[in-house]
Formats: sequence, C-alpha cells, structure tokens
Amino acid sequence: MADEPRLCLQCGKALKGRLDKKFCDDYCRNAYNNRLNSETSTLVRNINNALRKNRRLLAAVIPEGEELGKCPRQSLAQQGFDFRYFTHQYQNKKGQTYNFCYEFGYLPLEGDWLLVVLRKSKNKTGNPEAHPEG
Ligand SMILES: [Zn+2]
Repeated sequence: MADEPRLCLQCGKALKGRLDKKFCDDYCRNAYNNRLNSETSTLVRNINNALRKNRRLLAAVIPEGEELGKCPRQSLAQQGFDFRYFTHQYQNKKGQTYNFCYEFGYLPLEGDWLLVVLRKSKNKTGNPEAHPEG
C-alpha cells in the first residue's frame, strides 16, 4: 500500500526520499504556497466586496433619518445584491429570521418584498475603515 508514487503537489512529478515530502524542492513549495495564498485573498476580497455592496444597497432602501424601509427583492437583485452573503442572522420573538450585512438587515415579506431594517450598534465603534463610496 505504500508503493504508490507520491507526487509533488505543485508540479506533479514523482517524489523521492522522505515519506513526508510533498514537494520536489523549495521552488515548488513556494510556488504552491503563493498560489494558495493569492487564491485565498482573492476569495476573501470578493466576499468582502459583495458584503459591502449588499450593505450599500440595503442602506439605500431606508429613507434618510429612518430605521425601516421596504423594497421588492427583485429590485435589489437587479442592482447586484448577492443573497448568498450576509454577516449574521437575527431571530425575533415571532421566530422570523433577519439576515444582516453589518448593521443593515432584511426580512422576506409576502409577495417577494423585503423589509429592511437598521440596527444601530450599542457600543460606539468609530469606523476606521470608513470608505468614501460606503
Ligand atoms: Zn515539483
């Protein structure tokens, strides 16, 4: 069972030597790790961008100075809202689940409408990552 050739994770060449070897050499190890890191950060960046966009679209639904708004699900979807991503969920006493993107949440209503709410954080955070387009 130990006869199967072990292959370099980066280039696929058969490996010789120590059983725990995963790469031909440092070059292959570095190339492999670099690729992994850049794929990871691209994934993280894409999801962060989607969450920020979701947050911005939800914020736009709520009239200035208020904490509630409504809009058709379709209208958010058309603007590029990504329903796969949210930061956390909140369940109210009626058992309804809101999906939140940061401080803005939404609850599906009948007829494919969404109730959008703003939940201000209780502790004052001051936002060092504030972005001009946010
Ligand atoms: Zn290799």
